[in-house]
Order: sequence, then C-alpha cells, then structure tokens
Amino acid sequence: QNPVPNASCEAIAEKVEAKSVRHVPDGFIDYAVYRSQGGYALLRDCISGARDAESIIKIMEDSGLRGLGGAGFPAGRKWRIVRAEAGPRLMAVNIDEGEPGTFKDRVYLERDPHRFLEGMLIAAWVVGIETIYIYLRDEYHGCRTMLEAELEKLRANPPMQAMPKIVLRRGAGAYICGEESAMIESIEGKRGMPRLRPPYVAQVGLFGRPTLEHNFETLHWVRDIVEKGSGWFSGHGRNGRKGLRSFSVSGRVKEPGVKLAPAGVTIQELIDEHCGGMLDGHQFYGYLPGGASGGILPASMNAIPLDFDTLQPYGCFIGSAAVVVLSDRDTATNAARNTMNFFKHESCGQCTPCRVGTAKAVTLIEQPKWDVGLLAELSQVMRDASICGLGQAAPNPIDCVIKYFPHELV
Ligand code: SF4
Repeated sequence: QNPVPNASCEAIAEKVEAKSVRHVPDGFIDYAVYRSQGGYALLRDCISGARDAESIIKIMEDSGLRGLGGAGFPAGRKWRIVRAEAGPRLMAVNIDEGEPGTFKDRVYLERDPHRFLEGMLIAAWVVGIETIYIYLRDEYHGCRTMLEAELEKLRANPPMQAMPKIVLRRGAGAYICGEESAMIESIEGKRGMPRLRPPYVAQVGLFGRPTLEHNFETLHWVRDIVEKGSGWFSGHGRNGRKGLRSFSVSGRVKEPGVKLAPAGVTIQELIDEHCGGMLDGHQFYGYLPGGASGGILPASMNAIPLDFDTLQPYGCFIGSAAVVVLSDRDTATNAARNTMNFFKHESCGQCTPCRVGTAKAVTLIEQPKWDVGLLAELSQVMRDASICGLGQAAPNPIDCVIKYFPHELV
C-alpha cells in the first residue's frame, strides 16, 4: 500500500531522501584532499598550453580505452569525431548504472569523485564543450548529495578560468535511460525512449547539438592514462587482450565486489585470484558475463577471455562487466526467467518486437516445458527487428539456456 496516500512521486522521493543517510566510505577524497595530492594539475597544464589537445587525443587512442558503459566504442576516436563537428557542442555523462549486477561506477564515484570530474573537464576542453549534463541514477541519493557538494566546491574555487557549465540531472529509475539516446531524451525532459540512428548523438545529440556521450568510468581513467602514458593502460591485459576492466562481481563467491583486473582475465581466474574462490559448499555451475543481457555460460566454458568482442562467438557479451557467478544451487533456467521478467518490465514499449516479444517470452518460459522451436523464432524476430539493444539482447539468456544447459529442459 502507498505509505503516503495521494502524494506525488516527488513528495515520496523527498521523504525517502530525508531518511537516507549518506555513507562516507573510508578514504573519501574530497576537493581539498584531491587538490593537495596534485589533482587538477593536469587540467591546468591543458588550459595553460603546456599540453595540446591533439597530443591528448593521441594518448587516448594509443591507450585503447573503450567506452566502459558497455558499448565499447574507442574513447579517443569519439573525442575526434565530436571535435570535428561544428559548435556549440554538449556533453552527456551517463551515471545511470542500471544494468543488473553493475555497481562499479558508484564504488568509484563515492570514493574519488574528482578523478572523474577532472577527466570530464579534460575531455570537455579537448573537444570544446560548452555545457556538461551529468545524468545520475536517482537511487544513488548519497552520491547525489556528495556530488552536489563537491561541484559547489569546484565552482567556488575553479581550477580553470572559464569552466563549462555543469548541470546535474536526476534519472528516474528507468533501465532504458541508460541507453545513450534514451538518456538524452530524458535529459531534454521527454519520456526516455531510444532514438532511431542515424543520425548518431555525436552529430545530433542533446538539443540537436553534437554531443560527446560517456559513461562515468571511461572518464574516471582519463587522468591516469594521460599522466602515466598510454602504455600504462594498454600494458595491462591477459590472454591476448589489452587494458584494465572493473568487474562488478556478485553471486556465489567468497569475496564479491568491484575487482580491477586485466582485460581478458577468465572467469576461473577472476573467481580464484580476485574473489577468494567459491563460497564454501558451492560448486561453480555457470556465469552471467555481462549483467542481464550478456547471456549465461556454463562452468565448463571457464577459459574464455572476458573482454569486448571475445564473447560474441558464444552468443554473449561483457557489456559493463557485471559478472554474476552461479553455483550448483542455482539454475540457468531460473536466471533466464528472472532476466526476461526484468526486460518485460523495463521495455520502453516503443517497438512491437520488444514490447510484445518480452511478454510472450515470459509466458513461454514460465511453462514447465519450453517450446524451444517457438522460442528460437521469437528470439530471431526480437534480435532482427527491435530498435535498440534492450530488445535485441533480451533473448540472449534464453538462447544460452537452450544451447548450453539443455539438461535443465528435459
Ligand atoms: Fe523500447 Fe524495447 Fe524497442 Fe528498445 S527495443 S526501443 S526498449 S521497445
């Protein structure tokens, strides 16, 4: 029952917020501490002319840093593309972090916000951005309070003379608003629904202007990469892959959490070397390598390098690197039911293959016996005809159950 009869959503949100207490993590780095540790010196070097924009783009390109929100588009190339567009240019930062199992952005943001803000301002300077919109997940009440306070300190004592305008926007709990064009619609004050592309947001984005869109974590790494050099980032990596990845690990492991590991680490290495092994009494059974939409793989496929591009041959992807570990007490079928119910709920409803397809899929997989042929047809239609990634990727877990866990279906 609604605890506040007839109250508007806003009034409810305010009551929730009033009760929420911000948790300040140990070692929190505020503006003063960040500056005392050399923070914003790199940005000042850029503004003063000690660094030039072209050389910074080159470092970014050489580092191989890719969009860490899930799409994996090379960051340096994106800067170059937007910079070549006629101004005024805008920037949209995605901290919606709605992918189930993903919590890396929150962990970094609530500990070291200015590392991200400096990266954001460097990107804005390189690309020539007039206004920056930060889109923050509304469930992150504590992060918003902290970020508002730190932005105030930044504005009161700016590290550069002409700082771009920074606008902090609250999301409203819709998963689809993590999709870049739906987020842009939402920032513009409209219902968050993905746009058809082309045109791409780099050309026609926020308010019709060329827009540099980045996930939080991509910007979090900018300062370190530029200061330490492209080789520092690309020098990490395993099993033929390059770079670092922040895995949000949850499920049946002893030590879940955000694990900074080399790109290309395998699930077995991640469990054994970074998570203290499986929980006592649990046997490794399977894993979701990329949140709700990245598919499900069995424990026998434990040697695949986890990175962009490496999981596609298996019908999976890493996305935002949200890894959920299943044990012999779980089933892939239940995981697929769970994710498909989530997609049914979160579909924006704009296109029929996704709106009707997710609902139909839920009905089919809640039957004791799956109609595998019909599900395969439905998956194909959703994949081919949905407008955005939600509908296209929603059938991945079902396809994986049919392919890799057939014993659960007999
Ligand atoms: Fe909306 Fe789903 Fe279509 Fe995406 S695929 S536009 S979420 S209905």
